[in-house]
Amino acid sequence: MTGETKRRRKKRKEEKPRCGLCGKSGKLTKTECCGQWICDDEDKYVLFSYARNSCHRNHRRYTLCGYHYAEEHPGHWKDCPICRNDFETELYVYYGTNEYNFEKLENPPAYLPTRCSKCGEIISLGYDGYTRSGDEYWCEACAQKEMESHYLRTKH
Ligand SMILES: [Zn+2]
Ligand SMILES: [Zn+2]
Ligand SMILES: [Zn+2]
Ligand SMILES: [Zn+2]
Repeated sequence: MTGETKRRRKKRKEEKPRCGLCGKSGKLTKTECCGQWICDDEDKYVLFSYARNSCHRNHRRYTLCGYHYAEEHPGHWKDCPICRNDFETELYVYYGTNEYNFEKLENPPAYLPTRCSKCGEIISLGYDGYTRSGDEYWCEACAQKEMESHYLRTKH
């Protein structure tokens, strides 16, 4: 049995698997959520650095596929009502269509852009830094200002 499968594999041109996200063929592993080849690079990630240099971590943390699997939802993430409900539409679309996905959401729902509650600048929830305070979103600049004035007010 094993001899036969081995022989058959040898005949084929050796094709190196590549990471489905960045195309590198280095140290690879398969994703637990969807069984795709991906860089085995979580060790590159520096704790609390928020860097996005790890394919494996990016797929696990910033996609619906990874989330859906981690939360043990039934069915496929693309038509999962729990995933849809767990995120505001903008983030749902981001997690379903960003570059950390092997497969993207085919018909992402439309959404209105999120604006900073203080200055009105558009904040891209997937790509920009922001602070959330209750129902409000603050862009980084406004959050910074707010923090500084708070600091001054509470300083004795
Ligand atoms: Zn990669
Ligand atoms: Zn996946
Ligand atoms: Zn789900
Ligand atoms: Zn602002």
